[in-house]
Amino acid sequence: MMTEPDNTGLNLSPPADEPARQFYFIGKCAELIKKRSEKLGRPMRSMIQTFGCQMNERDSEKLAGVMAQMGLEKAGSEEEADILVYNTCTVRENADKRLYGRLGVCKAYKQSDKEMIIALCGCMMQEEHVVERIKASYPYVDIIFGTFNIFSFPELLYKRLGSGERVIDIRKGADRIVEELPSERKYSFKTGVNIMYGCDNFCTYCIVPYVRGRERSREPKEIIREIERAASEGVVEIMLLGQNVNSYGKGLDTDITFAELLSEAAGVDGIKRVRFMTSHPKDLSPELIKVIAGNEKIARHIHLPLQSGSDRILEAMNRHYTREKYIALAEMIRAEIPDVSITSDIIVGFPGESAGDVDDTIDVIERVRFDGAFTFEYSPRTGTPAARMEQLDRAFVQSNFDRVLHTVQRISKEQAGRFEGRVMEVLIEGEDEKDPLRYTGRISQNNVVHFPKEGYDIGDFVNVSLDECRGFYYNGKVSGMK
Ligand code: SF4
Repeated sequence: MMTEPDNTGLNLSPPADEPARQFYFIGKCAELIKKRSEKLGRPMRSMIQTFGCQMNERDSEKLAGVMAQMGLEKAGSEEEADILVYNTCTVRENADKRLYGRLGVCKAYKQSDKEMIIALCGCMMQEEHVVERIKASYPYVDIIFGTFNIFSFPELLYKRLGSGERVIDIRKGADRIVEELPSERKYSFKTGVNIMYGCDNFCTYCIVPYVRGRERSREPKEIIREIERAASEGVVEIMLLGQNVNSYGKGLDTDITFAELLSEAAGVDGIKRVRFMTSHPKDLSPELIKVIAGNEKIARHIHLPLQSGSDRILEAMNRHYTREKYIALAEMIRAEIPDVSITSDIIVGFPGESAGDVDDTIDVIERVRFDGAFTFEYSPRTGTPAARMEQLDRAFVQSNFDRVLHTVQRISKEQAGRFEGRVMEVLIEGEDEKDPLRYTGRISQNNVVHFPKEGYDIGDFVNVSLDECRGFYYNGKVSGMK
């Protein structure tokens, strides 16, 4: 919710406690932004570009919230922005390359507008070699901060606006979780809610534990309060976010499991659908499956990263489950939750992976029958154990990747067709990008549906008959309001 910045006490020294300290700097920035806007003869404008996962999306909503409260308007394009923020991702090499590509373009922006402020944050900034490279080769980047102190952006921006000097603040870990700063939702009807940060699993290919730190759960009371507030502001769908939601609750004084939290979240008045992301197969409990099965408000969709179907590779990845355990878990989920959709992530080309290992992965895909899966070529991340292992020939990886991708596509297409002809509940998410006379929405299983507008609004739940499956989406028509 947006409120006017509170300017009382701005002449005093900044409070030491958070979030009071950042509210103080929001006020200080607002003063400077107002002055600069008057000088420019127009409001100052900002833009945030977000790469990567839902965690980053949520962090960007927080940055957008504080910038709006400072009085910054939204820029229509990067060139138009007075403050341009890139919230970066480092999960794969491609993401890194994209950022360096964007920074090349930023040089031209800076040449035509020397006052423009360019800020970088997110996972990539937690990597020392990245920050060193940016310091050395991109002198026009003004602010660099990391994942542990996203909350301190107002303070860093104030330093930059006041001094004109480059500001770098990267922390090695989080000594506290600072929430309760303003946040601006991308969608009025749905939002993500962080329930935990970091990850303790140390899968050997993954950079997350190094850049997002060790696992920290938020207090359940705070989470529920945030959901209640969102519901009172019109949010009907929430997604509980964490790198490994199934281990939620560890280390808290309150004795609570993820299944219990999920159930409480679904019980909040006004919330009509709850999703969650991401589950680790090793921690997904029968209790959780029961809670989902017994509560219609919880989406019939479980994203359950497989990564590999070969026991040898799963062990080298440090995943702590076998192919048979994964298959048994998926079978239990399908038996207990009718119509559930199971999606996955699969990595092809992990060091040491043979054609036989890939056959094992394909076998699991065929047995579990994924409703969808993101398939990635393995890409080494500096600092992880797998990056130090001997890497595979790229052509070999490419041919294995193609085999896996074809299997995933064939099966998910067959799976998608299973709802054709049924009437299902759809949350209207927006206008169809290709046809302004139609809406786009999602069923509980997460499949996309397009249908003609018939007097309903974005954010409404409607019953839609799924007349035609077009591979990965449906065309349908409304058969009534939910
Ligand atoms: S569970 Fe593994 S893959 Fe997922 S974030 Fe943690 S370390 Fe990375």
